[in-house]
Parts: sequence; structure tokens; C-alpha cells
Amino acid sequence: LLPRLQGMEKSIWQDFAILAEKYKPLNLGLGFPDFLPPKFVRDALTEVLSKDDPFLHQYSRPAGHPRLVKVLASLYSKLLNRDVNAYTEVLSTLGASEGLLCAVTGLIDAGDEVIIIEPYFDVYVPLIKMAGGIPKFIALKPPENTDGLASSADWTFDRNELENLFNSKTKAIILNTPNNPLGKVFDLSELTLIADLCKKWNALCISDEVYEFMVFKPKEHIRIASLPGMWERSVTIGSAGKTFCATGWKVGWVYGSANLMKSLQIVHLYSVYSGSTPLEKRNCRDWGEPDSYFATLPVELKAKRDYIVKKLSDFNIKPIIPDGGFFLIADWSQLESRVDLNSEGVDDHKDVRFSKWLIKNVGLGGIPPTAFYNDENKEVVENYVRFCFIKKQENLEKAAQLLEKWI
Ligand code: PMP
Ligand code: GLN
Repeated sequence: LLPRLQGMEKSIWQDFAILAEKYKPLNLGLGFPDFLPPKFVRDALTEVLSKDDPFLHQYSRPAGHPRLVKVLASLYSKLLNRDVNAYTEVLSTLGASEGLLCAVTGLIDAGDEVIIIEPYFDVYVPLIKMAGGIPKFIALKPPENTDGLASSADWTFDRNELENLFNSKTKAIILNTPNNPLGKVFDLSELTLIADLCKKWNALCISDEVYEFMVFKPKEHIRIASLPGMWERSVTIGSAGKTFCATGWKVGWVYGSANLMKSLQIVHLYSVYSGSTPLEKRNCRDWGEPDSYFATLPVELKAKRDYIVKKLSDFNIKPIIPDGGFFLIADWSQLESRVDLNSEGVDDHKDVRFSKWLIKNVGLGGIPPTAFYNDENKEVVENYVRFCFIKKQENLEKAAQLLEKWI
């Protein structure tokens, strides 16, 4: 194994996919919906495929089908209240995953420091290391005392600690709002501090906003690219897979100012060349006005969140209430005496042993959240498990029944 790939052999997704395959739990682990994407989304693909258009089956424009990048440019021009150029400021990618790859590879050089806020989507660290960069961590911490239900909004970083992490070697900070796995939606004052520090230290912001259309009222999603002086120094990543409940389609995008996007377009051009033409064409539709679907999606998701929050709290598995996205983490420590953690050995962190035990003994799949923290800070979430709640109501009810049976 090359030195820069060492330590990356284990992936939480692979480990838990193997367990899920073997024990077939009711799976609230990996983040994807267990229901069909909306009909208008599927119909649009069927319609595209029904055309006798030979070009539909051939390479697309490398940086994205012209119609798709125009639709995205028009959407974000409205949302950001600025003119986004479809050809120089938008890149269509194979899922947000490739968007992240292009952003990190295109903007981070060997020896550059990149600040990551924990908990973080685990792929950021391997991507940075593959580019030769050095990740620097700052953890969102829970409030000292919480009576009643805690909110993801209460998990925040220490402002001085963040200020002290920035220095002349800092090339970028990676932001993820709404956050996976906590569901935290960063507020204006947090984003303003990040923006001010980026400007002070001439650093970039790579903003992963794949859950941007899944924010629960009264919370509002704020795009860091819309803050003063940030368009020039940020690239923002989105995902049609998340937005349209079709994670397997792997369509995503990045937008940002042309001077930054040029680097990402080069990485994309020489790695994948172009995206999937029929899927890009399908996504040219239904984007013009962020009206009904964009309004109903978070409302439907909020009902699912409220259901799982209520059930988990009834069972003394204390959830941290998310303001966005489709995950939450919940503290199971009050039930520790009813879990045989030793049956899972002693090597893994407690939450990993808990999640394995839960799959095997309760038949319920979750993900251990230490996977989203660096070694020094894993203890913050050792008593938690992550659940994905973008699932059919009947499956959320089945999950509650499994917990009830156990408890
Ligand atoms: N960023 C975050 C925060 C995610 O949670 C995910 C998927 N779980 C991705 C990026 C990747 O998105 P995609 O499926 O579009 O590649
Ligand atoms: N993003 C998915 C999750 O958080 C995992 C799959 C992946 O993209 N690595 O569940």
C-alpha cells in the first residue's frame, strides 16, 4: 500500500454493509431512502430514455450537459441573488462524492492545512491526505448540562479554538451544513466567523451542502457563498441523489467563482471526462422554480424526524434533535446495563461495539458516530449511535417495535 493510502484500509461503510448483508437488520444505517423517488423524477428519466436520440447515449459536455448547467445556474442565481455563469461557474459531477474529490484535488496542495469541523463526513480526511494536505480538527461539543431534549444547534465550536487553528498554512476549511451525522444547521453568527477567518487568512471554504433542501422550519439554510466576500473564496457542493431521493443515480454538482472552478473542471476533465448523459438530461427538468417539491420535502422529513425523536426518547435513547438532513445521533448510555458490549470484544470503540451488538441482537442497523471524529475527539460520541430516518413510516414503526421488544 502506498504510504499516502495507509490507515485508509478500513471504511465504516464497508464494515457495516458486510454486517447488514449477514444479519439483515432493519437498516437505519447507510443514508438512503427506502422508498421510490417522486414520480415526477422517475417519469422525467423515462421520458428522456423514450426519445430516439442517438446522442443521448454518448458523452455529455465534460463540465455538464448544457441544459443541466443552465438549470443549476438559474436556480443558484436566484438563491444567491447573483448571476451565476452556467459554463464557467458550475460543474456537474458523479454525485457530490466526485464534487468533493474535484474540490479537494483541485484546490489543496501538498503541505496545505485544511480545517475540518467534527463530526465530519468521513471521506474528507482520506481525500485531503491523498492530495498531500494536512487535516486539522475542531470538534463541535455538546453543551455541559442538558435537561430534556438536546438540539443539534447547541453543539458548537469554541470560537477561540477555531481562531487559533487558522494560520498562514491554512488553505481551506471544509464546512458541512446541514451536517451529517448531527443534523446541525450552522447559523449566521457561526458562518460569519468562519467567513471572517477565511478572509483574514486568505483561505478557501469548501462547503458541502448536499442536504441544503432538507432544512426544517423555522431553521433556514444559509449558503456561505452568499456572505460578503465569500463568493470569491468558496466552492459549494450539491447532490441530486440526496435532493431527489435517488442516491444511486450519482448526479451532483459544484458551483463557485470561475477562478476556483477552473481547477475543479480540470480534475474532472482528466479523471472522468463527462457524466452520465441520460441522467444529466433527466435532471435538466423540474428545477426551474424551487416550489412545491422543495417545500414539501422538508415537511415530510420533519414528520419522520419527530416520530423517531419521540420514540427514541420514550425508550431512553436520548436523541439530539436535528435541524436538517436525514440523520440524527442518539445517546444510549442509559441502557448500557442491558447491552453486552464485551461480546463484541474490547478493541473497538464503545459505539462500534454497541452498533454491532444492536444489529445482531435487536435486528436494528445504525452507524457508530466515532467514524465521524478524529482519534483525539472520538470520546465525545462514544455513547451515541447514528440513525437515518428517511425511511417509510412502516419501517420507522418496525424500528420502534424492535426497540420496544428489546427494552
Ligand atoms: N457529503 C455528505 C455530507 C454526504 O452525507 C454524502 C452522502 N452520504 C455525500 C457528500 C456524497 O453524496 P453523493 O451520494 O451525491 O455522492
Ligand atoms: N453518505 C452516506 C451516509 O452518510 C454513506 C455513503 C457514502 O457516500 N459514503 O450514510
